[in-house]
Order: sequence, then structure tokens, then C-alpha cells
Amino acid sequence: MKINYHIHTSYSGDMILEGRLSETPEKYVLAAIEKGFDEICFTDHVVAGRQKNEHLHGYAIDIERIPEYVREIKALAKKYHSIKIRIGMELDWLPEKSDEAKALTKKFPFDCVLGSVHVFGGYKTENVVPEKIELFWSGKSEEEIYARYVAYYRALQEMAKSGIFDVVAHLDAINRDGYVPKKSFWPLIEETIDVIAKAKLCVEVNTKGLKKRIKKMHPSPEILALCRKKGVPVTIGTDAHWVREISLHYDDGINLIRSVGYERLAVFEGRKMGFVKI
Ligand SMILES: [Zn+2]
Ligand SMILES: [Zn+2]
Repeated sequence: MKINYHIHTSYSGDMILEGRLSETPEKYVLAAIEKGFDEICFTDHVVAGRQKNEHLHGYAIDIERIPEYVREIKALAKKYHSIKIRIGMELDWLPEKSDEAKALTKKFPFDCVLGSVHVFGGYKTENVVPEKIELFWSGKSEEEIYARYVAYYRALQEMAKSGIFDVVAHLDAINRDGYVPKKSFWPLIEETIDVIAKAKLCVEVNTKGLKKRIKKMHPSPEILALCRKKGVPVTIGTDAHWVREISLHYDDGINLIRSVGYERLAVFEGRKMGFVKI
């Protein structure tokens, strides 16, 4: 089965900021059918409490537009029968907004909720425009970089324990800009995967990492192998921000998933996890 569980449309704030209003849900559906997908899940960015014109977390949908988003995706699911169309969201983990985030997952009929850590301990990894990447990372000491990694994985663990999410999105995306501490942080990774396994969450293979400076899938092959060993289910998404990214590095992602021993992919309906053969 060919599936994609990470797709952004013109509803996401970052798409609006970039002027990508032509990247509509229906165009994604048509492209997915053409590329032979059996199932896709729309996962526009949601930040609990984010309202229109609020520039902080500007990458997310305006909360007031969620009903419209849900209506449009549900209508597409009725219109197209050659592909399964699911509705989800990529929801930010913000500890101070966890009650509002949980309420959003209950209020709308989502099939799947991806959990992402984009903002943690005063840092913001998402939407860092290329010219700001250096500003964000360069000149930081080895200790500072290491401290950021610790803060990131601690936030990821808290997110996994919250009970709000189904899938951990781009697990090791803290490395996307290519800044990695020299000191090993593998014990922290092991601890994090144990928390994810205990919480019975699924991990996403996010193929977009190959396009970032790190040029590695999220998570890296070593981390994915550990997920497999610990019995953590896996799904796959291309984190498409353009219709043309519907199958971005898809085969590479599937090859990685197979190479560490997985034989099935997790899919979701009404927040219940099921499995399909790869
Ligand atoms: Zn993300
Ligand atoms: Zn995304």
C-alpha cells in the first residue's frame, strides 16, 4: 500500500505566507491518485490558541478556519473513491497550551494527530528562513548546542507522555540545519524511544529531511532501527508543502523502513491505529 501521512495545504499559515494558495487539497488528491497512492492524510499545521494575524507561530492554520478545513477534506473523501482520504493535523507540542490542544483533538473528527516539537525552551526550529539559520545556530558553543538537544528531546518525551497525539513527527528534526553536538546523546535517544514505546505512539518516517541541510531522513536509520527493536510502529509522510512533493523521496523512505525490518505501515481512522502491508 502506498500512503502519505504528512501533507500541508493552502490552509497552513506557512503556505499562505509563501503565497502558495494554489496548493489546494483537491490538487493534492489528484496528484496522489496520479502517483498511485492508496491513502493520504492531510495534516495542516495547528497551534492551539493561534488566531488570525497572530504572527507568532504564523505557520499554523487560523483556528477559526478548522471547521472549513474539516468540511473540505470530508467532501473530497466523499467525492473520490479510488483513494482513501483521511483528515489529521500536525499539532505543536506547547506544554502551556496542552489543555487547549487536547480540546481541539476532541472537538473535530480527526483521524490522526501528528505531534511536533517546533518550539522548545525558547527555541524555534520551524520556519527558520535560510538566512536566519546561521543566526540561530552559529557561534553557539558545543555546550549550548548540546543543551538545545537535551531540551528538544525532553520536550519530545513530555509530548509523548501527554496522551494527546498519535504519531511523533520528524523525531530528530532538531538536527535539520546540520548542527549536531560532538558529545554523544545516544542515551537520551534511547530514553526517548522507550517513552514513545510505552505511550504506544507511532513514529513517522519524514522524507523531507533529505532536502534539509542534514540530508538524512527523520529519524535517522540508527534511530529507526532502534524504534523497530523496541516495537514502535511506523508510518510515512513526505511533509509536502507543494503538490509536487506528494511523493518526495517516497521510495527512499520505504527502502529505509524495509531495511530495518518493518513489514507494515500504521494508518489511522478516527484516531484508531491500523496496519497495512508495505
Ligand atoms: Zn513540522
Ligand atoms: Zn509538516
